[in-house]
Amino acid sequence: MELTMDKIIKKAVEFKPLTAVANQLIGHYVTIFMIHRPTSKESNYHGLNPQLLDECLTYAKQNGFEFSSIDEIFTNALNGVKADRPTLCFTIDDGFDDQLNELVPILLKHNAKPTLYVLVDFIDTINWPWDYKLIYLINHTKLKELKFTHNNREFNFDLATDAQKTASRRTLVRYMKYLSQKEFFDLMAEVIQKLDVALPDQIPEAYAPAKWSELREYEKRGLRIGSHACTHRVFNSLSLDEVRSELKRAQTRLAEELASPSNIFCYPSGTTQDYSYQHAPLLQELGYPAAVSATPGNTNYTFIKKDPYNIRRHSFPNNLDRFVRYASWFEAVRSKLK
Ligand SMILES: [Zn+2]
Repeated sequence: MELTMDKIIKKAVEFKPLTAVANQLIGHYVTIFMIHRPTSKESNYHGLNPQLLDECLTYAKQNGFEFSSIDEIFTNALNGVKADRPTLCFTIDDGFDDQLNELVPILLKHNAKPTLYVLVDFIDTINWPWDYKLIYLINHTKLKELKFTHNNREFNFDLATDAQKTASRRTLVRYMKYLSQKEFFDLMAEVIQKLDVALPDQIPEAYAPAKWSELREYEKRGLRIGSHACTHRVFNSLSLDEVRSELKRAQTRLAEELASPSNIFCYPSGTTQDYSYQHAPLLQELGYPAAVSATPGNTNYTFIKKDPYNIRRHSFPNNLDRFVRYASWFEAVRSKLK
């Protein structure tokens, strides 16, 4: 149903006279995409096919979209600069080596001005993101189910098929996200033990982070790199002091290693349950004037100026029709109505 809808919208958007009028009426609008990992050899992870990304960028250029970096978009919004054409922006979250080497080159080839938001402890190889550890553990366990009791709640996850593994992992991540630090570390230890998988001391090859030296090379070629904090724990599970310390550490390391980190922050996970209005002042203190979330939707300069710490992004879709829809005046109108 949704797929047919995408096709109909694509047809409407491709009818040039209609799109010209719609763009006139709606004014400038911005679609910011959030990209995760490329398609992977590891099962249980649905990534972005680099070829699809290439196809979408080619389409966007042929259809008159403008590409701007997130920093440019914010500066324009602040200064009341109006874009003549609908604008697309590309952000990539987390900082995996495969994101840098398989997706960023395609974005740079199209001059799409991407920003890569890195988890600083991950790039420093101090630790790898806990939610990806769960992917690893669940992929490597031989067990067909995972059972435990936590805070008087009983959990029973099926792990027999790939689909069950994916669903179970998602539910487990959603539950663990909001635990306090102590509860979180205790449960993580219990899950590792119960799944009976040895978590490697070193970050496994399939989960390798980008290296600072490579990030510096890509920075020279036009990639902007920004802060996604340090550990991937969501801010609502941390105390304000813990959040402040992550923000500071990330900012310091980025400034030490790179020439010009992005001024715009990217919340870990970033749904409306993951952070709150209390976090904007901490960001402001450190000189971040805005932040991107994971709330889906299009945006525009007026929205961004009015509400800079809740900038919406669309998850990059897995087909061209949906990409066209997200980038369209149709979606811009829909987002305004939401
Ligand atoms: Zn992330």
